[in-house]
Amino acid sequence: MFIDLIENITLLISLCWLHGMIMRYLDGYERLGKVCAGLLFGAVCIAGMKIPLVLTDGIIFDGRTVVLSMAAFFGGPLVGAIAGCMAGLFRLWLGGIGVIPGLLNILMPILMGLAFSYIHRRGWVPFNIGSLLVFGVVLQGLQVLNLALLPVDHFALFLKHALLPLVAVLIPATLLLGLLLRDVQLQRQAREALRQSEAYLRAITEAVPDLSLVLDEDGRYLKIKTPDNDLLFTGASELLGKRLQDVLPASQADLFHKFISRTLASDRPQTIEYGMQTQVGHRTFEARARRLDTLIQGRRAVVLMARDITDRIAYDLDRRVAAIAFESQQGMIITDAQTRIIKVNKAFSRITGYTETEVLGQPTRMLGSGHQGPEFYQELWKTLSENGFWEGEIWNRRKNNEVFPEWLTISAVRDEQGQVINYVASLTDITERKSAEQKIQHLAFYDPLTNLPNRRLLRDRLQQAMALCGRKGMYGALIFLDLDDFKNVNDLYGHQVGDELLCQVAKRLTETLREQDTVARLGGDEFVILLEGLESCAEEAGTQVEHIGIKLLQALREPYLVSGHRFNNSASLGIVMFNDAHHSVDELMQHADLSMYSSKALGKNALSFYDPQMQAVVSKRLQLEEDIRRGLAEEEFVIYLQPQAGVNGYLEGAEALVRWQHPQRGVLGPGVFIEIAERSDLIEVMDLATLRQGCELLVRWSNQPQRAALSLSVNISSRLLYRDDFIDLIKHLLDETQANPLRLKLEITESLLLTDKEKAVMRMQSLREMGIRFSIDDFGTGYSSMAYLQQLPLDQLKIDQSFVRDLPENTSGLAIVRAILAMAHSLNLEVIAEGVETLAQRDALSDSGCKHFQGYLFGKPVAVADFEIISLCSGSQH
Ligand code: C2E
Ligand code: CA
Ligand code: CA
Repeated sequence: MFIDLIENITLLISLCWLHGMIMRYLDGYERLGKVCAGLLFGAVCIAGMKIPLVLTDGIIFDGRTVVLSMAAFFGGPLVGAIAGCMAGLFRLWLGGIGVIPGLLNILMPILMGLAFSYIHRRGWVPFNIGSLLVFGVVLQGLQVLNLALLPVDHFALFLKHALLPLVAVLIPATLLLGLLLRDVQLQRQAREALRQSEAYLRAITEAVPDLSLVLDEDGRYLKIKTPDNDLLFTGASELLGKRLQDVLPASQADLFHKFISRTLASDRPQTIEYGMQTQVGHRTFEARARRLDTLIQGRRAVVLMARDITDRIAYDLDRRVAAIAFESQQGMIITDAQTRIIKVNKAFSRITGYTETEVLGQPTRMLGSGHQGPEFYQELWKTLSENGFWEGEIWNRRKNNEVFPEWLTISAVRDEQGQVINYVASLTDITERKSAEQKIQHLAFYDPLTNLPNRRLLRDRLQQAMALCGRKGMYGALIFLDLDDFKNVNDLYGHQVGDELLCQVAKRLTETLREQDTVARLGGDEFVILLEGLESCAEEAGTQVEHIGIKLLQALREPYLVSGHRFNNSASLGIVMFNDAHHSVDELMQHADLSMYSSKALGKNALSFYDPQMQAVVSKRLQLEEDIRRGLAEEEFVIYLQPQAGVNGYLEGAEALVRWQHPQRGVLGPGVFIEIAERSDLIEVMDLATLRQGCELLVRWSNQPQRAALSLSVNISSRLLYRDDFIDLIKHLLDETQANPLRLKLEITESLLLTDKEKAVMRMQSLREMGIRFSIDDFGTGYSSMAYLQQLPLDQLKIDQSFVRDLPENTSGLAIVRAILAMAHSLNLEVIAEGVETLAQRDALSDSGCKHFQGYLFGKPVAVADFEIISLCSGSQH
C-alpha cells in the first residue's frame, strides 16, 4: 500500500518537474503560460488517478490533493481552476461510491492552495519547510475529514488500511513538491529578471547617443556600440578583438591605458576628456568609464561611454563670447515678444540705476519718460515690425527719476517661422554728447563772455525781424552801441577787468530792455540791440526808440565798479529803423555802425539816427582817402613848426605839425585828414614823410649856430610804432639824413602805448639808446598812473591843452597841473604845457613849477621858412 502511494506520488512529482521544464518555453507569455500550466497540472492529476491506490471498488487514493494545492498556490486561480476542472471531470467519469469525497478532495486543495498563497503574499506566513509541513498536515487532515463522508464501513476500512500510508506519504510529498515548484518558480523569476534587465540595458545603450565600449585590462576592444560609425577611429568590426595600441597612436593608446588602469583601481566611475581623429575629422570626447565587477574571458574589463562634445565646446565658447559681448559698455536689454524684460547687463544698471532683479519681468515702458508722444512710439513700432530694426534718440527715465537722452537700437529676433520671439536693445547714454552738442550750439550762437547772442544769431534774428515787420507793417530798430574809451580800461587794467566791465554792461542792457528785444555782442565793446514790434507810424516809432536810447545811455553812464576800480564809460549809439525787408542785413548793420560813429563825432554819450545823407558822408570820406593818397604821392604834406619855449621865453625847439598844401583847398590842418589817414596805412606814409622832413630840417639847423641847439618834436602814430620794421626805418632815416638823434623828440600818446606795452617799451628803449627822446602827448587825458609811467623810458610829459585852457581860474585844472608836475619831478621827467595862449596861463603854469611851454602865446604853427625867420629873434619875443 505504501509502495503504491509512493510510486503514485513520485510519478506526480516527476510530472510536475517536467511541467516546470516545459513552462520555461512559455516564459514571457503569461496568459498562455497559465492555461498551459493548468492543463499540465490537470493532466498530471489525471495521470495520478489512472494509477491510484485502490481501497475498494470506487474508492481510490492518489496524490491529487498535493498537486492541485501546489498548482493553485503557484499558479493562482486560473491554473487551479483549469487543473481542478480536468481532475474533477475525470473523477466524475471514474465514478463509484467515493465520487463525492473524491470531488471534494479536488475542490478543497485548490481552495487551500489559494488561501495559502493569499496569506503568504500578505506576509502573514512565510513559505518554508515549516509552513509547508503545517500546510501538508492541514491539507491531509481535511482530506481525511472529507473521506468521513463515505459510508461508515468504508471509512473504517480507510482508517484501518489507508490512513497511515496516506498521511505518511502525502504530507512529505506536499513538502517536496512545494520546494520543487518553488525552485522552478525562482528560476523562472530569475530568468525573467535577467531578461528584463537585459532589455533595460539594451534600451539604455540604444537610447544614449554615446559611444559605448567594453575594453579589457589589456586595452582590447571586447564590445563596441556606436550610434554613428563615423565617431570611431575606424570601422567597429575592424576594431573588435584588437588592442588600443594596435590601432591608435602610441601617445593616445598610452593615455587610454592609464585611464583603464585608473578605472580598474577604483570602484567609482572615472572621467576623461580627449581629442580623437575620427572618420569625420578631429572631434573632442568626454568619456566616463566604470570597471566591470566580473571577469570577461578571465580578464578584468571596463565599460566606457564616450560622448562627442565638440559641438558643445563650440557652443560653450560661443556662449561665453556672447556673454562677454553682452556685458559691454552699452546697456543691453533682452525682452520677450511682449517686450517684457528677460535680461539686462551691468551697463544697463549703471545707466538707468535699476538692478536686474528690479526690472526682470517688467515691460520696457517702465523706462519711458513721457517726453515723446504716442506718435513717436507708433512710428518706432512700425519701423521695427517692417525692418526688424530701429535706431534713434529716445528720452528715458532713470530710477532716480532723472530724464536722460539715449541712443537706442532695437533688433527683433525671429524664430524659424518668422515669429518675433525676442527684442534685443542696446542703449548708450548720450547725455554728455547732448550737452556737448548744446555747448557747441551755444558757442556757435552766443558770445562766451556775456552769454549774449553773437553776430550770427543776431543776423538770423534781424532777418526774421525784418520779414516780420514787413508783414505786420511795424517798425523795428537796430542800435549799434560802442562804449566810449573802453579800450583804455582793457589796456590799463587788464583784460579780466575789461571783461568784467563788459559783463556789467551786458547786464545793464538786458535789464533796461524788454524780454523780446535782442541784445547781442559783436566783440570788443560793440553791442547791438534789436528792437522789434515798434509802432507802425514812423515818427512814433522814432520817438519810442529815442526814449529807449536815452534810457540806455543813462543806464550805461552810471559808474561801474570793477575789482575796486570805478569806471565812467558812457556809450555812443547809432540807430537805424526798418519796416520792410528792402535792405539787406548787411546794409542795416552798416548803417547803424555809421550812425554810431557820428555819435562818437558828436562827443560821445550820444545817440544818432541813420539817415540817407549819411551815405553821402561815407562816400565823401572815401574820396578824401583817395585824395590823401594822391597828396602824399605829390608830396603835398609838409611840416609846420610851432615853437616851444623855456621859462624866459627863449626858443628851445619846435613841434612839427603836418599840413596839407592842397592844390584846390589851400593849406589844411590835421583835423581834416588825420582821422581818415589813421584808419588806413596812409598815416604811416604821412608820419614817415614828416619824420624825414624833420630830420632833414635838423641836419640843416645843425649848421646854423642859432638853431643848432633846437630840438624837434615829431608826432608818431600807433600804426607806425607797431610796424615790425619801425626801428630799422628810423635807423635808416637817421643814417640817410645824418640827423642828430639827440635833437629828435618823438611824441606819442598814452593810449598808443597800451596796445602792447612790452613791445612799445622795447622799441622806445632801443631808439632811446640811439639818443632819441620821448614825450607823452596830451598827458592827463588818459589813465595816467605813476606805476605805469615808471616802466616807460620817458623824457617829457606834455600837459594837455584842456588843463591849460581854463587857467588860472579853473582851480581843479591847476590842481591837476600841479599833481602832474610833482609826479614828473619825482620821476625826473621834463614837463611841457601846450595850448598856452595867455600870459596868465603861462604865469600860473610857471608858478606851479612848469618850465617849458608851447602855444599861441609863443607862436602858432607856421611854415618852416616863417619859423626860421621867427627863430632869428627868439628870446627877444617876450
Ligand atoms: P597835438 O600833437 O596835440 O598838437 C597840438 C595841436 O594844438 C596842434 O593842432 C596845434 O596847432 C594846436 N595848438 C598849439 N598851440 C595852441 C594854442 O595855444 N591854442 C590852441 N587852441 N591850439 C593850439 P594841429 O596842428 O591841428 O594838430 C592837431 C593834431 O594832429 C595834433 O595834436 C596831433 O595829434 C596831430 N598831428 C599833427 N601833425 C601830425 C603828424 O605829423 N603826425 C601825426 N601822427 N599826427 C599829427
Ligand atoms: Ca603833439
Ligand atoms: Ca597835444
